[in-house]
Order: sequence, then structure tokens, then C-alpha cells
Amino acid sequence: MTILVLNAGSSSLKYQLFAFKADGTHEVLSKGGVERIGLAGSFVAHKGRGGAEIRIDGDIAGHTDALKKVFAALCDKDCGVISGVGDISAFGHRILHGGEDFSSSVILTEENLEKCAKNIDLGPLHMPANLACVEACKKLKSDIPNVGVFDTAFHSTMSKTAYMYAVPYSYYTDYKIRRYGFHGTSHRYVSGQAADYLKKAGCKTSRIVTCHLGNGSSVAAVKDGKAADTSMGLTPLEGLVMGTRSGDIDPAVIEFISRKTGESISEILTVLNKKSGVLGISGVSSDFRDISAAAAAGNERAELALSVFAYHVKKYIGSYAAVLNGLDAVVFTGGVGENSADMRARITKDLDGIGIRLDEAANKSIARGVLSEISKAGEAVRILVIPTDEELVIAKETYELVGGCA
Ligand code: ADP
Repeated sequence: MTILVLNAGSSSLKYQLFAFKADGTHEVLSKGGVERIGLAGSFVAHKGRGGAEIRIDGDIAGHTDALKKVFAALCDKDCGVISGVGDISAFGHRILHGGEDFSSSVILTEENLEKCAKNIDLGPLHMPANLACVEACKKLKSDIPNVGVFDTAFHSTMSKTAYMYAVPYSYYTDYKIRRYGFHGTSHRYVSGQAADYLKKAGCKTSRIVTCHLGNGSSVAAVKDGKAADTSMGLTPLEGLVMGTRSGDIDPAVIEFISRKTGESISEILTVLNKKSGVLGISGVSSDFRDISAAAAAGNERAELALSVFAYHVKKYIGSYAAVLNGLDAVVFTGGVGENSADMRARITKDLDGIGIRLDEAANKSIARGVLSEISKAGEAVRILVIPTDEELVIAKETYELVGGCA
């Protein structure tokens, strides 16, 4: 069974083609991305058979055009891996917001697509692109099933106590204002891997804090496989300090800045989403490698950005230890969580009071791409580094929903 996983942004489309065998094992046949959809200079960067890289330039007006170009690459005469759209068994889509309608992945029937359309205003930047991509797939070949995997779904087990904002109740009933959480596929995947690891290690309980640290970052508290809390809210702006997002701030800042600068609410929200976080503090970059290099060279604001970032992750770990009534594991994943030994060390420093102590040598020498334990032997809480794979989770969900092998 061949499954094309699609992750559509407003001007981009990332894809991965998976082949599943009858025994459930899989292989990635090809992957790539379309950039600058609807803008000047659009192109497809594609990795085909044998890792061959090709680039297709040309006007790409929308997601239908983008998908046609993706298929041109997938069927390329030299490095193609399929002969046509008919070789695809199902499309698996990353959908940002499931609202309160979707607590698990679904086949995107007309009825489900109507429900998705009602949630567009909960994710106005991503949802139109996600749904345009589904429409493009349907247009291309209407009898191939489309599966929606929602970023919010894993967090749907949060209790009302955890997800309610303390605002007038009518905001919730009239406008669905509440905390939803994101990065759900990643939190689910790595918490599942961690739970298996703990079980094998003889641990009787499964209280896990997963730290997905990348450009966008979030933390989740997971008990016995179910999300109890997470740091992102109605939108991905809430929670941790991120690459360019502020994370938690006093909302009064918005009116205060508006009075000072004359900027509108929407302009200030753009600043909070795109010009804040470690970029805003450091003034150097949103990329942790650039900031680390600047900090090492003595840039004080870069150093401050790293320490503020680490401090916020640490605070969430502590508060989720309280939510879960103790911890069995802390998991690091995402580009920063998987690759930055320095950031893992900063976050876990002085946490031995709650049973978290890093093995410094193990932290610095982990193998890439596999689960690694980096806690000091004998400590109550395991510290794990687990590579996430959101595309694989989407492919597996799709595989299961469309009925396994075909
Ligand atoms: P996204 O949220 O866009 O999926 P990723 O999870 O890919 O982001 O993470 C991207 C971040 O990971 C970038 O800020 C990058 O600097 C950081 N990163 C990748 N490798 C390293 C490394 N070796 N050391 C520090 N940061 C790293």
C-alpha cells in the first residue's frame, strides 16, 4: 500500500511517500517540498529514487498546481518511484485544528470536511491551506481516500479543568474559546515510545512529560498514554518561548504596546508570532544553532535568549510533575530537543530535587536517530531523547484507517 503524506502550509507543501508491506513494515520511497506557492519563484525540491535530488521551477499558483508538480517529480522518468496517481492507495493529511469535533484521525468524508470547514476560524493561517490540499487531492483522483490527522486530537483527553480559560463562560459556549494544544502527533508518538521503554524497564507507572522543542515548541503531560495537559492553547502562541513566538505573556502587553506605537491588535499579534521568542530576545536569529554560536562568541542577548528558553521549559516540567503527581520520564524531541546537548543540560540543571539528574557524558554522546537514555543511573526519573516522526505517524494512521494492505 502506497500512502502520500501531505503537510500543507499557506505557501508550502511538504510530502513523503510511504510504501507499507503486508506485514505492516514500511519504507519511505521519496520526499520533498513545494515552496513559495502563489508567489514569484515557486519550486519543488524533491528527493527521488536512490536519493537523487531534483528541482522543478515554474509558476505554482495554488495547491492543485503544487500537487501536479509533486506528481511530476514522483513519476519522473529518471528518478521516479511511481508511474501515476493511480499507484497511490490513500492520502494522509496533517490538519492543524480538529476543534472539539475530532479526538482521533478520520477519513475525510464530505460530512467530516464540513465539520473541518467550521473550524477554519480556529486556525485561520493553516486550515484554509490544509483543506485546499484535500480538495486538490480529490480533484486529482476522486476515488482515493483522504485521511485527516489532527494536531489537536491527542490532547482531546485533557480535562475541562485543564483546558478552560478563566474568562466568561460564554466565550467557551459561544466561540469555542478554550485550550486545545498542538504537536499532538509528535507528543503521542514519543510518549508511546517512552511508555514502552518504561514498561520494559519494569516501571509500574507511566507519568511522562514530553518536550517537543523545535522552531515551534510545546510540552505535554501524559499519564498512562493519555494527555493530561499541554502548553499550547487556543493557538500555538501560548506556552513555551519559541523560535519566533513569545509564548505566555500578560495579554495587557498588547494594549500597552498599541498605545505606545499605534500598531493594531493584528499587527502586534504578528510581532508576537513572528518576531518574538528567542529571535526577539537575541536579535540574532530564530535558529538555535545561530544563537548558540553567538552566545559562545560572547553575545549577551543570545545567551539570555537561551537561558530564558531553558527556564520556561524547566518551569513547565515542574508544573507537570505536579499535574501528574510525580514523574517517571522526561522526553526530549524536535530539532532542538534531539540535537542540542547544551539545551538539554540547561533545562535539566538543578532539577535533582525532583529526581531529574542528567548523565553529562551520555547526554553528549547519544547516537542519532534512536531512543537514548541520558539520566544518571538510579535516579527516579528517566531522561530520554526520542526522535519524533510526525509523517510516519500520519502514514500509519492512514494505513490503519483505510484498512491495512491493498
Ligand atoms: P520545526 O518546528 O520547524 O519542525 P525543528 O523541529 O526541525 O523545527 O527544529 C528546528 C530547530 O532545531 C532550529 O532552530 C535548529 O537550529 C535546531 N537545531 C537543529 N540541530 C541543532 C543542533 N545540533 N544544535 C542546536 N539546535 C539545533
